[in-house]
Amino acid sequence: MKTMFKTPRPSPAPTEERTPRVRFTGLSAGYPGRPVLHQLDAHIPALAVTALVGPNGSGKSTLLGVLAGVIRPTAGAVHHAGDRSPAFVPQRGAVGDALPLTVRQTVEMGRWGDRGPWRRPTRRDHALVDTALERLGIGHLAARQLGELSGGQRQRALIAQGLTQESDLLLLDEPTTGLDPEAREQIAALLTELVTDGVTVVQATHDLGAARSADACLLLREGRLAARGRPERVITTETLTQIWQPA
Ligand code: ADP
Repeated sequence: MKTMFKTPRPSPAPTEERTPRVRFTGLSAGYPGRPVLHQLDAHIPALAVTALVGPNGSGKSTLLGVLAGVIRPTAGAVHHAGDRSPAFVPQRGAVGDALPLTVRQTVEMGRWGDRGPWRRPTRRDHALVDTALERLGIGHLAARQLGELSGGQRQRALIAQGLTQESDLLLLDEPTTGLDPEAREQIAALLTELVTDGVTVVQATHDLGAARSADACLLLREGRLAARGRPERVITTETLTQIWQPA
């Protein structure tokens, strides 16, 4: 995969002034008997990479689930500007290593939302899968079993699956966590390229490097919004000490 990590991207307007792709107000959500998110007011800027950051259990995945439309808010409202369904890329760990799936089959599953699992893939489906495999630099791995791949390669297969959904909103759960620095850089570069192609990207992450290279951050603490804005404003020594090592 080509790496264009260091290429500066011209930004048409400061991230926070861009039209929101998603806006939520008074958002609360959780699981039966387990409220998690409390009264969140924020937005996801369009055509930017937003990082959801915060310690384990702070509600990052739950917020992604709400943005993906799989978790219903218990209060408040979520407004999507745009009518395309989001594409959700789950955590690598949530995808069983032992599943007897090839990389191509994994990526093809991204087309199921449009055509269902039982219909034969069309020529267009094949073309979208090929494009996504090439885009992620894993075309040569198409026939390999998912479980044989390195963490970075498996992550790329999952992102390729997300891309075949042709969404303008890509939601990723911990895409760089546990990868080596080179694989992390490749994923970060790819997410930046996707924004240039017209995609809004949201990633839940523990990886402070990934958070720092995002355009915007939402910092969660115990299900509440502790800070939001540019990474340099949000990821400060003070917030790190307060949030990651609470007294
Ligand atoms: P994060 O992604 O920041 O680690 P999560 O959104 O995964 O946080 O979890 C927030 C809280 O919700 C945690 O306390 C977690 O135990 C709880 N939780 C997550 N998933 C479920 C679930 N399916 N059922 C009940 N509680 C859950």
